[in-house]
Amino acid sequence: MTVPDFQFITDGVRCIPVRTPTLPPATHTNVWILGEHHVTVVDPGSPYPDEQERLDYILETVLVERIVLTHHHADHISGAIALKSTTGARIAAHPLTQQRIDFDVDDTLTEDDVLATDAGFWRVFHTPGHASGHICLHNPGISTLVMGDMVAGIGTILLDPPEGDLGLYLHSLNLLRDLQPKRLLPAHGPVIDNAVGCLNEYINHRHTRTEQIAKSLAEIGTASPLTIANRIYGTQVPDAFMPVAARQVLTHLNWLVAQNRAVVDNNKQFSAKES
Ligand SMILES: [Zn+2]
Repeated sequence: MTVPDFQFITDGVRCIPVRTPTLPPATHTNVWILGEHHVTVVDPGSPYPDEQERLDYILETVLVERIVLTHHHADHISGAIALKSTTGARIAAHPLTQQRIDFDVDDTLTEDDVLATDAGFWRVFHTPGHASGHICLHNPGISTLVMGDMVAGIGTILLDPPEGDLGLYLHSLNLLRDLQPKRLLPAHGPVIDNAVGCLNEYINHRHTRTEQIAKSLAEIGTASPLTIANRIYGTQVPDAFMPVAARQVLTHLNWLVAQNRAVVDNNKQFSAKES
């Protein structure tokens, strides 16, 4: 067996990236280990037996008390049952995550629940937007947030309607920003130290994109998400990714409708609303 990638971060938090079928350019999901000896393991997401074995091997020296799933996407949950079977740890997730997965969790987690480890407490925040049952974990003692897929250290966060909801996502980002964290631990890519700056960037980017889409819609009159995606992204996005880009545009259009700034007809064509 090769030397395990047991990257010590700090303050009783460690990261073990495992290979997962995730969204490129990311290739791995970060499994966050909270605690020193009695630990909580977040998002063991690899479906691959060799990666699951590597994680087991690394965790052999600690007691895994709990497995937490930030949300239901396959690259976050696919190693949970395997890890439970080797460690006996209980699996915990939000009730809305339970509804979206095909195995039973042992415990449900909701807003303000607190998880104790031997290296500090982590408070649960319900942060829908990317996924309905998404949760983040906050440790105020070390000003650190386990972010799941709320932000990414590599690549971008997809909001795929109807699960993806921009209004909820922005609300959740604002709530996390108001905690004034120092450090963000994303599920993909490196640790983010400029936490508040990063959250502000994500919030501002979504507002800028919304206004760009509102402007396009006003100019075109009536349009489908794909028409607007082609207009906005043009040659920046390869043709193969244009349907994904159109799903992102749809998220913004849905938010404009929710804000009473656009309307949608039965053929899923959007128009700007006269103000
Ligand atoms: Zn996700």
